[in-house]
Amino acid sequence: MRRDTFKCFRCSACCAAGLLVPLTKFDFQEWVLSKCYLPVILTVKESNTITESLGLDYVYTLMSHRHSSYKYVRDVLQHYGVKLPERGCALYAQEHSTCRIYRRRPLVCRIFPFTASLTVCDWARDNCEAVRRGHCLPTYDLAKLAELYSREIERTYDSERALREIEELRRSIFDKVVSKMVRDRVHLEVLRYYLLSYINFTELNG
Ligand code: SF4
Ligand code: SF4
Repeated sequence: MRRDTFKCFRCSACCAAGLLVPLTKFDFQEWVLSKCYLPVILTVKESNTITESLGLDYVYTLMSHRHSSYKYVRDVLQHYGVKLPERGCALYAQEHSTCRIYRRRPLVCRIFPFTASLTVCDWARDNCEAVRRGHCLPTYDLAKLAELYSREIERTYDSERALREIEELRRSIFDKVVSKMVRDRVHLEVLRYYLLSYINFTELNG
């Protein structure tokens, strides 16, 4: 197979696949600073092969249909008229085949299909068209980002204090969304757009 530096085809197959999206403190801070509130679709995922490969017991991740509490969040959001995809990442906009937060997507998405150790992940070997066509060497920029991701995973999950901090960030975003929802008591239709703006719908059109 010809080996070339990676060029993503932007087919979004990976976003629709329901893969785990491990988040770091870097991602949370980006969202807090940019007021891009995502808590309603964040959850904690306890061990599977990916968390094991990262040497972690659990990760903070974006919600997808594979997570056990997805049904609860989906029911809540659908009550407010927000559609979530039946499969794939909750931030994947199926109707436009794009990421709703593309410019602020998590580090793990920026380095995909590479892992922190710069190997191509198993899913991509079988399913990513770019990799199948031999675009499987990381560019310099991807390598730098993978380094950052690796450091951030360590920083995020390496101590009780770090975990407490990220949990506080997660809660603070969540509280802001929920308290505003309750306080505003807005019409359902207004609430719908309000919630969509919290998952940074504007990124889609911006
Ligand atoms: S990484 Fe691969 S599967 Fe994902 S959008 Fe790019 S080409 Fe498609
Ligand atoms: S956050 Fe965006 S780029 Fe990452 S998996 Fe979800 S839709 Fe895809």
